[in-house]
Amino acid sequence: MDNVHSKAGHSPIRTCVICKSKAEQDSLLNFYLLDGEVIFDIRKMVQTRKLYICHTETCLQKLDRWLLHRRKKAAATSGKKA
Ligand SMILES: [Zn+2]
Repeated sequence: MDNVHSKAGHSPIRTCVICKSKAEQDSLLNFYLLDGEVIFDIRKMVQTRKLYICHTETCLQKLDRWLLHRRKKAAATSGKKA
């Protein structure tokens, strides 16, 4: 048995945007927003600021609503009347 340094077991902790629970990065799905659309970066190809969500039906089902809410907020901020 080689005592090699393993990368396993040391993934950073991230927070799910929906339920706010913390989990290892590897156990969460990561995605980013492109023009307000959710893009899942399954192959981890894109270097950008990522958002994380649990890989559970409960959280994934709420993602649409979360996105709507986020869009509304963004619209309200950018389209504010002085
Ligand atoms: Zn979650």
